[in-house]
Amino acid sequence: MRLTRLFTIASAVLALLVCGMLGRLLWGEWEHYRAAGTGHHTLQLMQRAMVAAEKLSYERGPVNAVLGDRMPADPARRARLLRARADTDLALDQLRQDLSQASGQPSTALAPLYDALGAARLTVDQLAALPPAERTPERLDAAIERMFQLVPLALNTVTSYTRASEQVYPRIARILMKARLTVELREFAGRLGSALTVPLAAPRPLTEADHQRLQFLRGRIEQLRQLIKIPSSDIDSEPRVLAAVARMDEVYFAAGQRLVAEVEQASRAGRAYGMDTGQFAQRYVPCMAPILALRDVLLQEAQTQALQDYEAARRELVLALLVGAAILLALTLLLAIVRRRVVVPLLRATRAVVRLGNGDFSMPPSGARRDDEIGDMLRALATLRANSMDRQRLEQERVRLIEELKLRADTDYLTGILNRRAFTAAGNLRLRGAREQDESLAVILFDVDHFKSVNDSYGHDAGDQVLIRIAEVVRDSLRDGEIVARYGGEEFVVMPTYCGLEAARALAERLRAAISHEPLTLADGHILRVTASFGVAVAHGPHAALDDLFHAADLALYRAKRNGRNRVESQV
Ligand code: GH3
Ligand code: MG
Ligand code: MG
Repeated sequence: MRLTRLFTIASAVLALLVCGMLGRLLWGEWEHYRAAGTGHHTLQLMQRAMVAAEKLSYERGPVNAVLGDRMPADPARRARLLRARADTDLALDQLRQDLSQASGQPSTALAPLYDALGAARLTVDQLAALPPAERTPERLDAAIERMFQLVPLALNTVTSYTRASEQVYPRIARILMKARLTVELREFAGRLGSALTVPLAAPRPLTEADHQRLQFLRGRIEQLRQLIKIPSSDIDSEPRVLAAVARMDEVYFAAGQRLVAEVEQASRAGRAYGMDTGQFAQRYVPCMAPILALRDVLLQEAQTQALQDYEAARRELVLALLVGAAILLALTLLLAIVRRRVVVPLLRATRAVVRLGNGDFSMPPSGARRDDEIGDMLRALATLRANSMDRQRLEQERVRLIEELKLRADTDYLTGILNRRAFTAAGNLRLRGAREQDESLAVILFDVDHFKSVNDSYGHDAGDQVLIRIAEVVRDSLRDGEIVARYGGEEFVVMPTYCGLEAARALAERLRAAISHEPLTLADGHILRVTASFGVAVAHGPHAALDDLFHAADLALYRAKRNGRNRVESQV
């Protein structure tokens, strides 16, 4: 697999894994944040429901007062009842609005409570309209009982919302439980007061059943008080909570209970109560206020903790988002850096190495100034490239030198024409051809006449110039296929193309004439004329040998010298 492809796949897998991990983390934080928000809201609903339950409990006080009223009715008692009812209606309305808002549609959760409330109030109003004598204990009990039944309906709403909040906030479950206990305590305290309504309204002494009822209610109230006081969380040691509990003990469990005891004692002693239900309610109801104060303190603590949780969840969500973004950014940067600083240079270097291997030295890879491992590699590559280029240059130089050496080995250093060695090689080759093709091969040997005297008269350099010039004259006079070489000293040899003796003689004669007619101008301006003597020989047949041919030509040349020079002689 190509490195780029591998890197892309690896990057994609890594990015997917990181995104998956971050997504999971963020989803968890988001869920926590959302749950905290919902829980916080639910807690508010619960508080509303508790307030509504309390108002319903509270309404029983004025009801008792009105039912125990004599004729003509006390307008103040009636007004108090109307105020209490208005308070209840307001609390229920707010609860209904909040419930509707929470569910996004008009809530019907409170419909049974509204029905029961309407019916209970009607019963109370009908009974209150009767003369006191007709308000029999049975009728009064029935009316009060209807009012009692309202509170459990509201408390059911409270209970269900409390459970929802506890699920979201397990750590405040205990506080909520205590708040619920205070609502229940307030309800039972109210019932304790209501238990005296009928005897006070009649008025009549408490019956044994009344005593038993009071006893039962007191027992339940005491039980709830103990449950509330059991330390169950760090909230219990909060000064505000401690103060609220102390105030409840002081006001309700001392003053409130004493009031109930007074009524009981008066009944036992057969004394008059000294107060009717309204007066009793006026003294008893305020004693229950600290119970609600305790409930509010507990709910406030729960709210504070829920808000803290909500804020913490929001902070953690924001932090998780920031960390996630930072991780993604870092990953992207890292991958980009690795790609730019490692993968891409590596690929360029690889391509450059491949090109180097193919002898292409173009485009040296950049980045050799980097001071990391890739930089080391690129520098090594640059060195390799430089070495390869040097090696190539040296190779070219070597080839050129070899060519030159070869040329020099075959060329006469002074005249530039072939030397004797090269001529012998070429002659042998041509002789073999002559034998194969059954052709004649001729050799013309010539020697400059009285050359020693040229050296002696004009110097060795002038002699050299004469030799160079003679070589030029001869070369210019030859045709394609005719070879000339310096045979040694001032002796030259010419090999015509395959031809017989006459043709070779004719060529020798032409050369002799060319040399003798050529005026040779020396460097100092002197003009010389030299001549040369020629010996011609021809070989033919399967046994022809180059040495024999030279020897024959040499003999002919010797004869030419002897016969007066500047002439052509051929083998006899
Ligand atoms: P002949 O007509 O009998 O050939 O007389 P010659 O003087 O040419 O013959 P000889 O053999 O006595 O002398 C040849 C001279 O050629 C001797 C030598 O100094 C000279 N010579 C040989 N090679 C060179 C060369 O490369 N340069 C120069 N300047 N002189 C050379
Ligand atoms: Mg000679
Ligand atoms: Mg000579």
